[in-house]
Amino acid sequence: MTLFHEVFPEIPLEGVRVVRVPPNPWGVPTIDYALLDAYCVDPGCDCRCVRVQFFPREPLAAGDGPQSSAKLYFGWERALYYKELARHGTDGGDWKRESGVSLDPSETETPINRFFLKILEELIEDPEIVALFRRRYLLVKEFAREGKSPSS
Ligand SMILES: [Zn+2]
Repeated sequence: MTLFHEVFPEIPLEGVRVVRVPPNPWGVPTIDYALLDAYCVDPGCDCRCVRVQFFPREPLAAGDGPQSSAKLYFGWERALYYKELARHGTDGGDWKRESGVSLDPSETETPINRFFLKILEELIEDPEIVALFRRRYLLVKEFAREGKSPSS
């Protein structure tokens, strides 16, 4: 998974969306967090998912709240697609390929992680942001197929 911004550094790094964190009992400050998206750069893999992480838009002192959310995933296809992919597709790598929103396998289920999951769940109710993820996914795949490495 490579950040969209690393593949296309010429596109301003402003995040796909900025969300104001709602009041919560877990000490996550109610400030703006930017959503950064990352995609699989394997040209032979059609995993149709995005990895998402939220980062505070203003510097946070240590102890004032999470410097980032956990790594979250969103797969926009139906569950059957990922099931078939797992059966016939290429190696799944170290990321999750699952329909809907899920937590990275390396992360633990904490109230804060579930809180950010819920924020993502609400965001993807907007078809526009789902369309945006799909568009950016295709851009990254196109780039990967041309044989250019993200760092070049
Ligand atoms: Zn993939």
